Amino acid sequence: MKSKKKYHNEFRRIMRKFGFPFLLLAYSIGLSLYPSEGTLILLGFAIIGILMENWMPYHKDWRGIKNDSKLDGVFSILTMIVSVIVKGGLTVLFSQLSFGSHLWPTIPLPLSILLALLISGFGPYILHRAAHEWNDFMWQIHAVHHAPNRVYSLNAMRAHPLNAAWNVVTGLGPLLLLGADSETILIAGGLNNFFSIFNHMNIDFKNVQLSIFLNTAELHRWHHSTKKDFGDRNYSSGAITLWDHVFGSWKLPRTKFNRQDAGLYATNDFPILSLSRQLIGPLCRCL
Ligand SMILES: [Zn+2]
Ligand SMILES: [Zn+2]
Repeated sequence: MKSKKKYHNEFRRIMRKFGFPFLLLAYSIGLSLYPSEGTLILLGFAIIGILMENWMPYHKDWRGIKNDSKLDGVFSILTMIVSVIVKGGLTVLFSQLSFGSHLWPTIPLPLSILLALLISGFGPYILHRAAHEWNDFMWQIHAVHHAPNRVYSLNAMRAHPLNAAWNVVTGLGPLLLLGADSETILIAGGLNNFFSIFNHMNIDFKNVQLSIFLNTAELHRWHHSTKKDFGDRNYSSGAITLWDHVFGSWKLPRTKFNRQDAGLYATNDFPILSLSRQLIGPLCRCL
């Protein structure tokens, strides 16, 4: 019995360190082999992630269905619908109306994907930072993402539809405008989506070195802090953290994130459990 527990703890220790790189590698291989099936592959990995949240949680108290789960689910469905519509609209716009240019360089696929990750991360970074630091209206919209008092899988797509739309327009738009090929767009988009889901997972992974370059849960969790000094950092929402380094907003404290420190820092009376007020409030200025 004792040795069984010992093996379990050893396996958990290995998964803590190597679980995320392994999942990322497996997902990247699957995505590069079947780029057009990216959504299904991502769904499979998201299910694995949710199971891991229960098996090796970062905070046990952040697990399970709570009173915020229903709203997280509703906003996630809205985000999916808005993303599909805006992606479809942009693709049709650029292909039918020949807005796209042919500026995209002819380079090997891995470099093309890396370039796409850099470019698709820039617009969302700037708007994300604007929402936190420069524009009250944008903060009211973006606050929907920060409202829950925990960081877990269902937070990933919890966003106001306008927030979801501006992320797609500023992430995908430049790639279409520059004439990136569809394989590059599918794989880079799939990687960005993988990170934006897994960087919210309540899984006890420990990858400090990876967090320098990649947008891990270890790093993004701090962006959900109620403490402004941590919440106004780490704005990258896709796969890579380059723009945070360029603009000096990357920060990874080495301490454990306190489970009570997740949530809003700027609006104490935000209607955390009201769907209609979170949706309409920012638009009519009647939160
Ligand atoms: Zn934010
Ligand atoms: Zn987040």
